[in-house]
Amino acid sequence: MSSIANKLKKIHSEIRQAESHAQRKNASVQLLAVSKTKPSTDIIQAYQAGQRHFGESYCQEALIKQQELGSYQITWHFIGPIQSNKTRQIASHFSWVHSVDRLKIAKRLSEQRPMSLPPLNICIQVNISNEASKSGFQLAELPTIIEQISLLPNIKLRGVMAIPQPVADYELQRLPYRQLYQSIMALAKPEIDTFSFGMTGDLQAAIAEGATIVRVGTALFGARA
Ligand SMILES: *Cc1c(COP(=O)(O)O)cnc(C)c1O
Repeated sequence: MSSIANKLKKIHSEIRQAESHAQRKNASVQLLAVSKTKPSTDIIQAYQAGQRHFGESYCQEALIKQQELGSYQITWHFIGPIQSNKTRQIASHFSWVHSVDRLKIAKRLSEQRPMSLPPLNICIQVNISNEASKSGFQLAELPTIIEQISLLPNIKLRGVMAIPQPVADYELQRLPYRQLYQSIMALAKPEIDTFSFGMTGDLQAAIAEGATIVRVGTALFGARA
């Protein structure tokens, strides 16, 4: 078994354990393999071990890998910062976008989504730690932005994505996710079924607070240069 296959197995067992610890259903959390900066050969190893969903943060890099991996049945997720001049390519080459942080970006993705493809799945990025440097909507803006994005025809609002400030303490890791989860639940929007919460450092806490997708890079592919 390749080392990536071994790591994948280990991450799956951690996810299953966190699900059961949180009394959540088996397989209610999906693994998104974050392959940014890693070569296509690493993606193939994970694919051969059963992984199908991959996340990329840089558009140009992702398009090159998508070309190289054209014969594989991969579902591509865009998770990085989005510049306006990249929306056409993102709308054409991905199934999911987790990092929608401005209404203008959502409008462009909807306008530019090719008619031949199903609606683009979208998560709104929420700035949950109130960090001035981080992009994303504030909690208080959520009701309005959700209404506005729901009206756009060629994208499908699935949920929210958050990247809290990294902290080591498990209880502190849980707090911002809990706050965001509860804010969304209070809106009672049944179409929202996705919580893109948690990375290598905080995946247990994220699962305890309702994550449905965890985005894992380092634990699967090793440290990035
Ligand atoms: C890089 C990245 C990840 C993966 O982080 P790891 O700590 O390597 O697991 C997850 N989400 C986003 C948005 C990222 O940019």
